[in-house]
Amino acid sequence: MTGQRCIALIAHDQKKDDMANFARKHQAALSQFRIVATGTTGGRVQEACPGLNVVRLKSGPLGGDQQIGAMIATGDVDMLIFFIDPLSSLPHDVDVKALTRLATVYDIPMALNRATAEQLADFQSTH
Ligand code: PGA
Repeated sequence: MTGQRCIALIAHDQKKDDMANFARKHQAALSQFRIVATGTTGGRVQEACPGLNVVRLKSGPLGGDQQIGAMIATGDVDMLIFFIDPLSSLPHDVDVKALTRLATVYDIPMALNRATAEQLADFQSTH
């Protein structure tokens, strides 16, 4: 254990460009964290920011959201940035609900859209 806080990154397909841009913009803030991400999102973030070390879990629809939920339950994820797509139906909709529920149960900071993530990142860099 390093004591370093861990941030989880997830973006649905229509939001992956947004996540890559967000990561590029806030690379310095993100570098303060251990970073875990669902598979495809992690690949996009790693490609956008080669300097970051991103641990890629399973793809969301194949269990990645649930892996992150389990890590929240065990105290291994401290913050969640999850760019959800409210305009598409998703095969793993129940996993999305389970994950956001656990983030609420364990009361970790959670941003579900870019505007909130920007506020969290600004807050992080000034505290
Ligand atoms: P992905 O998973 O990063 O592997 O695309 C995200 C999701 O759809 O939950």
